[in-house]
Amino acid sequence: MQGAQIERKGERQSDPQSEPVTSFRERAQALARDLPAQRLWIGGRWSEGDGEALAVWNPATGERLTDVAEATAIQVDEAVQAAQATQPLWRNMEGAERERILWRIADLLERDALDLACLESLNNGKTVREALQGDLPPAIDIFRYYAGWTRKIEGETIPVSGPHLCLTLREPAGVVGAIIPWNYPLLMAAWKLAPALAAGNAVVLKPSEYTPLTALRLASILQEAGIPDGLVNIVPGRGATTGHALARHHGVDKLAFTGSVRTARSLLYASADSNLKPLSLELGGKSPNIIFADADLDSACEAAWKAIFANKGEICNAGSRLLVQREIYDDVLARVVARARTMRVGDPLDERTDMGAQISELQLRRIQHYVDAGLKEGARLCCGGERLSDEERRRGNFYAPTVFAEVTSDMAIAQDEIFGPVLAVLPFADEQEAIELANDTLYGLVSAVWTGNTGRALRMARAMRAGSVWINLWNGFDSGAPFGGVKHSGFGRDMGHHALEQYTTTKAVWIHEGR
Ligand code: NAD
Repeated sequence: MQGAQIERKGERQSDPQSEPVTSFRERAQALARDLPAQRLWIGGRWSEGDGEALAVWNPATGERLTDVAEATAIQVDEAVQAAQATQPLWRNMEGAERERILWRIADLLERDALDLACLESLNNGKTVREALQGDLPPAIDIFRYYAGWTRKIEGETIPVSGPHLCLTLREPAGVVGAIIPWNYPLLMAAWKLAPALAAGNAVVLKPSEYTPLTALRLASILQEAGIPDGLVNIVPGRGATTGHALARHHGVDKLAFTGSVRTARSLLYASADSNLKPLSLELGGKSPNIIFADADLDSACEAAWKAIFANKGEICNAGSRLLVQREIYDDVLARVVARARTMRVGDPLDERTDMGAQISELQLRRIQHYVDAGLKEGARLCCGGERLSDEERRRGNFYAPTVFAEVTSDMAIAQDEIFGPVLAVLPFADEQEAIELANDTLYGLVSAVWTGNTGRALRMARAMRAGSVWINLWNGFDSGAPFGGVKHSGFGRDMGHHALEQYTTTKAVWIHEGR
């Protein structure tokens, strides 16, 4: 739909005639032109960062979009203090009022969806279509979902021995530190903010140094919605500086993290070395997508290429290992390779583009490293395997959709999270071998099983060591359903009522009834 006219919804609905219609490209270019240097959001106002200013790049063009200030440890401390000072006001506010504010955030996100999607695309390199259709709707929905919870977080009464009444109170954790990655910047912020706020907490949010733009844009939306000043503070900066200061802060009562295993380890140490704050860790994956010969192959193959190439493979739940039963292996491989070969890789602002730009040069090098390792270890490269650097794409971080066949489970491309558009296709003989291969990695985030046999589907669902199992579908996501991993994919859950458990503590209150 590039070049076509796009209707903007919301904001100025009162006078739709005056609303200019514009293409994604025009809107994004206008946004990029007007981007001011980004600052810190602390205590309900913008402050200059005292740390080193960091450049924010457009991965598809190599252009510098703007600079972002970095919060120092002192400024992280100011943010935590602002959060501590405001949290009692929020927790004591009537649930109905908090519900109204969370709902209003969703409305404002909806109003600004086009701008937010364009910013996300500019800053992350994902296609604007993916941002608009894939990132924004769940980010909006999760605020509505948790708005409904503000008045439903209940305690219980417990029949105890003796002349006592025992009841429980579910109380907010206090100040939540949230550290998020670059692949879904706005959505990850929403996944942390919505349940934390619904449960009555204050938040200090640290976006990725690569992608701070939409999180910072959120600041004014939160304020407009009625979030009290100081309740949510946004402190951009690098992990080793700003993130580290937040993780070690004694005033942070709970840390919610999405990112890599390496960083998760350092956060666990930081917690141990400071105030033993509890953590929830949503980490990486090497997720198996398993196709049995009795499956609906059209649906399974269509899902298989999307599972790895959506968001340029920079998805924690990418279906990066395709396990295919031997008798259909050649057929499935041929279909997936054919689809990969016809994908359009390039300008993320072009509606026809299937895959945008990888986040960074570093990420490109990481992908190439694994592709080289796959070749060296004897896997067969069916397509891709190289950076795309023709005239049109040479300034951006574009990589060709890549498929490897004859992969064995001991290869690096079958074990390590590449976080790029590289698919490893492995054959299996029967159910038992499929289970062994599927569980043969350090990770356990999601898995999918494609089969026409209900009994097998249930057996496989039980056998998978993963946080989610999708039977005859890929990408089962809903604000009401828990998402998270086991093993090196982390612990704790985002979304659903399950996430609320992490943002609340349970207090037992005993009352002596006398005799
Ligand atoms: P990363 O761990 O490098 O960075 C994530 C965040 O942590 C960033 O904000 C970064 O600045 C911060 N950080 C880095 N070092 C830190 C430190 N020492 N102390 C405190 N903060 C620190 O991860 P990334 O490269 O941004 O993201 C990619 C990773 O995230 C992949 O492994 C991917 O699988 C994972 N991920 C998981 C999920 C999920 O829900 N399970 C979702 C998205 C991404």
